Amino acid sequence: MSQRVGQTDPRRSIPRTDRLLALPAVAAAREHLSDETIAECIRAVTDRARRGELAPDAVTAAVVEAVGAARASTQTAVLNATGVIVHTNLGRAPLGPSAMSAIVDAAGYVDVEMDLDSGVRSKRGVGARSALLAACTPAEDALAVNNGAAALVLATTALAAGREVIVSRGELIEIGAGFRLPDLIASTGARLREVGTTNRTHLADYADAIGPDTGCLLKVHPSNFRVSGFTAGVEVDALAALGRDRGIPLVVDLGSGLLAPDALLPDEPDAATTLRAGADLTTASGDKLLGGPQAGVILGRTEYVQRLAKHPLARAVRIDKIALAALEATVAGPRPPVSQYLHADPQRLRARTMALAAAVGGEVVAHDGRVGGGGAPGVPLAGYALKLPESAARPLRIGTPAVLARVHDGATLVDLRCVPETDDARVAEAVRIALTDH
Ligand SMILES: *Cc1c(COP(=O)(O)O)cnc(C)c1O
Repeated sequence: MSQRVGQTDPRRSIPRTDRLLALPAVAAAREHLSDETIAECIRAVTDRARRGELAPDAVTAAVVEAVGAARASTQTAVLNATGVIVHTNLGRAPLGPSAMSAIVDAAGYVDVEMDLDSGVRSKRGVGARSALLAACTPAEDALAVNNGAAALVLATTALAAGREVIVSRGELIEIGAGFRLPDLIASTGARLREVGTTNRTHLADYADAIGPDTGCLLKVHPSNFRVSGFTAGVEVDALAALGRDRGIPLVVDLGSGLLAPDALLPDEPDAATTLRAGADLTTASGDKLLGGPQAGVILGRTEYVQRLAKHPLARAVRIDKIALAALEATVAGPRPPVSQYLHADPQRLRARTMALAAAVGGEVVAHDGRVGGGGAPGVPLAGYALKLPESAARPLRIGTPAVLARVHDGATLVDLRCVPETDDARVAEAVRIALTDH
């Protein structure tokens, strides 16, 4: 059916596209949106007006609003009210202000491989390397790569491709969806030589397995589970002594990225202690307890770090300039958010949660936070949450700002541990809207 638009039809007064494109707010949006995206915003609004869903005189305001809300990136900032610090689905570690401003500086042209004083090419990552060595003094050398998995792949490839990696059966773990350590190592062309049993592995098991084909010994921190009961593992110092004795390097995959011990997490290994105990190399993630960007951090003896750095695969797992800048700023800068949230004072959390309840209603309940990201399983972090009806969770998620709370036992729990205190008022406003609109 053809629709003739008569002289008196109000649709005739829908502003023309060229007029809408000329609006100052629309012209300004060209700074951060493509022409196609802007055209799409205008088309969506004028189509609604043509269908009679929007009054013609409301078109201009609707276009300004649509263009203002459009983003070139669809990733949406989220306030993490789950109490889980290293939240895998929310991008693990949130960066602190120093890392954020380093990212902005590194986003343009930057002296990542240039010595500005002499004007000649320099080595990539010298700043991050120095920061890591200053923060972890037992390490002779450091190398940053794309992520923790890449660090492990590079280590086993450079030290054991075509040869054997000796590892305890109790440490052959699955870390996250689709990431199994044995598969990862097998993909490097190294052969896994499994020793011991799921619950018990002894030094003699490693010693008996060492032969002419051994490339390295590997010890993995089983971050996300714990075996309890009749168990035995071999400590780093004993394993390192065995390796030294037989001329075999020991690689320890720490996972979490603590550079030094944290009294709150006694079972979480750290790079400094592990290297002091004799490990030749440690590998870890940058975006777990280290609190930085996605990265893989390799620390250890110069001989082995350099062997990894010079391996052709190093180029394929190279860290980008932006992550490099953020990593350096995290390690050299003030305590990152992950550490602040981990050590949040429960009494302060209680006061903030009470203030939230006073503003929006709901009940203050005790609520344990978690390290998350597969780190420190079973370590509860004492804190509090605001208990709301379960139905509040979705409006909180889809609101602006988006707030992700924890849904548990038929309730929505808003935990402020991982919310910057300066955002408490935004959480309160989001909760108020979520409770009234739905
Ligand atoms: C998380 C983890 C990894 C993988 O690190 P990514 O940074 O996620 O690639 C490897 N090993 C252990 C023990 C881990 O906990």
